[in-house]
Amino acid sequence: MNAKVAQALPWLAPIWQRLASQIQEQRLGHAILLLGQQGLGKRVLLREFSQQLLCLDSTNSGPCGECGSCHLFNAGTHPDLLMVEPEEVGKQIKIEQIRKVTDFVNTTAGRSNNKVVLLGPAEAMNINASNALLKSLEEPSSQTTLLLYSHQPSSLLATIKSRCQLYAVYTPPWQQALDWLKQNSQQESLESTLRLAKGAPLKAIDLMEQDVHVQYMQFCQDMFDLQQAKANWSATLTKWKAWDSQWIMMWFYELILDVQKTQAGLPPESMSIQELQSQSAQVASVSRYAQVQSMLDKLLDNQKAQQSQSNPNPVLIIETLLIDWLSLLGQSGHRT
Ligand SMILES: [Zn+2]
Repeated sequence: MNAKVAQALPWLAPIWQRLASQIQEQRLGHAILLLGQQGLGKRVLLREFSQQLLCLDSTNSGPCGECGSCHLFNAGTHPDLLMVEPEEVGKQIKIEQIRKVTDFVNTTAGRSNNKVVLLGPAEAMNINASNALLKSLEEPSSQTTLLLYSHQPSSLLATIKSRCQLYAVYTPPWQQALDWLKQNSQQESLESTLRLAKGAPLKAIDLMEQDVHVQYMQFCQDMFDLQQAKANWSATLTKWKAWDSQWIMMWFYELILDVQKTQAGLPPESMSIQELQSQSAQVASVSRYAQVQSMLDKLLDNQKAQQSQSNPNPVLIIETLLIDWLSLLGQSGHRT
């Protein structure tokens, strides 16, 4: 028997074993940080690991599920567990939430002589929240374990990372991920959805639930139709307005990167938009490097603007990108 999470998400089994043996050997740090792309199950793994730390009768294979602590945990009312996450998806973790961590660390554990803080994604903390958390990391309490996860470790303060035990969670091998998806989804086009999710199986499930994979196939079709002059760009843009602009921008971003790779004599990314590789190859052959770079710059500027929350207009950006792309494809005559 293995922990529930390692049975359900088999690529997490090695990391579960590592963490569980760290407890047994009493080498688990007071703060640990799981790093890896979104959609691998880091949060689910840390949730079960919280239960493991709080369980009164755990083994390496997982929490017992029977003790008083496990009952409280399963009821979602364990007093020695504090979950710290953005109040809304995609928003920041606020400094007030970190103050609660400090208070929690300074109180006595109620049930199991252990307390656990599960916090993530860590990059959602702004600079003030990060600095406030550093205090708890610098003055560890022997009773509390901080469990952090991050999808974007490059955006974390170096001082946060240096005070945690780091564990990399790797994306499973392609075939393993695909086999898992086939067992867990009835949907079609699993391969292209998995590529869209950069090989992260839970991300792929998420995309299917939000119909992003359907939009992606439609995006590819629209791009073909525009190239063949079977569709008109303004009607296409109107359709795309109903979708999350982040995705459309990412698809353009990948197309542009593929163009640049082709121009540099490199093969395109295996995880990128394979359905549109003939288009990016055509753009690569007819466009100059500077034209392509200017499209990429527009995208990156927009990304920066969004991070600084200055509310750029994504519809306008996408319109510009599409028009630039079509004019590189030699379809500029259909602009009007
Ligand atoms: Zn238990």
